[in-house]
Amino acid sequence: MSQKPVHVIGGGLAGSEAAWQIAAAGVPVVLHEMRPVRPTAAHKTDGLAELVCSNSFRSDDAETNAVGLLHAEMRLAGSLIMQAGDAHQVPAGGALAVDRDGFSAAVTAKLDAHPLIEIQREEVAGLPPEEWDQAIIATGPLTSPSLAAAIAEATGADALAFFDAIAPIVHFESVDMDVAWFQSRYDKVGPGGTGKDYINCPMDKAQYEVFVAELLAGDKTAFREWEGTPYFDGCLPIEVMAERGVETLRHGPMKPIGLTNAHAPDVKPYAVVQLRQDNALGTLFNMVGFQTKLKHGEQVRIFRMIPGLENAEFARLGGLHRNTYINSPTLLDASLQLKWRPGLRFAGQITGCEGYVESAAIGLLAGRFAAAERLGLAPSMPPKTSAFGALLNHITGGHLSSDDEPGKRSFQPMNVNFGLFPPLEAGTRLRPDGHEGRFRGKDKALAKKKAVTARALSDCRAWLGLDPRAVAAE
Ligand SMILES: Cc1cc2nc3c(=O)[nH]c(=O)nc-3n(C[C@H](O)[C@H](O)[C@H](O)COP(=O)(O)OP(=O)(O)OC[C@H]3O[C@@H](n4cnc5c(N)ncnc54)[C@H](O)[C@@H]3O)c2cc1C
Repeated sequence: MSQKPVHVIGGGLAGSEAAWQIAAAGVPVVLHEMRPVRPTAAHKTDGLAELVCSNSFRSDDAETNAVGLLHAEMRLAGSLIMQAGDAHQVPAGGALAVDRDGFSAAVTAKLDAHPLIEIQREEVAGLPPEEWDQAIIATGPLTSPSLAAAIAEATGADALAFFDAIAPIVHFESVDMDVAWFQSRYDKVGPGGTGKDYINCPMDKAQYEVFVAELLAGDKTAFREWEGTPYFDGCLPIEVMAERGVETLRHGPMKPIGLTNAHAPDVKPYAVVQLRQDNALGTLFNMVGFQTKLKHGEQVRIFRMIPGLENAEFARLGGLHRNTYINSPTLLDASLQLKWRPGLRFAGQITGCEGYVESAAIGLLAGRFAAAERLGLAPSMPPKTSAFGALLNHITGGHLSSDDEPGKRSFQPMNVNFGLFPPLEAGTRLRPDGHEGRFRGKDKALAKKKAVTARALSDCRAWLGLDPRAVAAE
């Protein structure tokens, strides 16, 4: 190879896409994949881009669904993962589902055949050596233990998590603020706070007791055998806390002290559920302390019993998983580069995105950024209004961390969703045909999604140097 290669570690969804993008830019790549030399607890084959569980890339609707929009943007950017996914599609209604073996074999064959890509089947057991001056770590949720230990040592113990304890996230728009109110406990004005930083949902005694009973009775998911990690006391599932006694939650995450119901100042709530702003845009709020193993359907049913959340729409539901991911907002710069080691990037699920498509999308961006640098160019950032930009922004800067719970880190992996996009500019026409008339309710929500996706695709096309007006479904 005449030019120095970029080293990509991990040939999963993110690493495969990164390698493809780098080679497509004319830059040589060495892709290091440890399977079959060293297996993981979930992968079953030697194939690159193996789908470890479901075979679905989720909705392919680019007009009204955020992951469908990400599909469309990735196709525009020449994604190998989308090319192989489209070629090996199986019937799945509005979703893009794939024949997993055909898909993985196609990705492997394309990468194998590319003259600029060399695939080495070996574990990279420590941080890349300094002579790999452009490298991408894309080793995923099941990063090998020795590399994970090296990353933990280099980034600090609490910068690497091995466990997701996820609390649900709610779209602000769907919270009934005639019932809930903004207030920080004791009106405390913390760093960057206003004294009104939390959304509070009040419960009386009867509501609280029914709620606790529902938590105890609700259907829970079982841990799979690869998830043998014990609970940390700091992030116990809410239903495990409830098992410790009916009053436990009222003295824990649901304590009512220091809060006055703005709608009924004379009535002391018996318990309060608090929601904390999750992104800088203020469109998403997480349910504080509500990490849970309840099944998704049960979460929606039980959490909508909370006064103010009767019509809550969830951007993410809670869960507990084995996962390896870094605290990206503090460790990475805007181009996914470790702040203190330029040239070393992270990509895929290890950065704190969630899902096959999102992991591949972040791989695509990391590959483009690394290739640009190798060619002596500045990395070109996707617009924040695009799905690429919204997801990247969540990872590298959009999330607000909480300083009021010492020892806890609040950055949690997330799928792409509309809450990550900047709101529409005031005055945006929701009727592109120019006809007057107002949308209401669900029609309005749908029209807004369509306006966000149209803006995203147009801006993404401009970023890629394509004609921004030709937004027709690609
Ligand atoms: C059990 C499980 C089930 C999941 N199910 C789904 C699902 O159904 N749908 C969904 O959208 N997402 C799912 N995910 C989440 C996630 O989106 C996928 O794991 C996705 O594959 C992540 O892509 P990635 O490229 O970051 O990691 P991976 O696809 O896991 O790729 C990482 C690669 O790095 C290799 N590797 C690890 N360490 C080293 C090392 N030191 N040296 C060299 N190579 C190394 C691994 O062998 C692997 O091939 C699941 C995750 C897990 C763990």
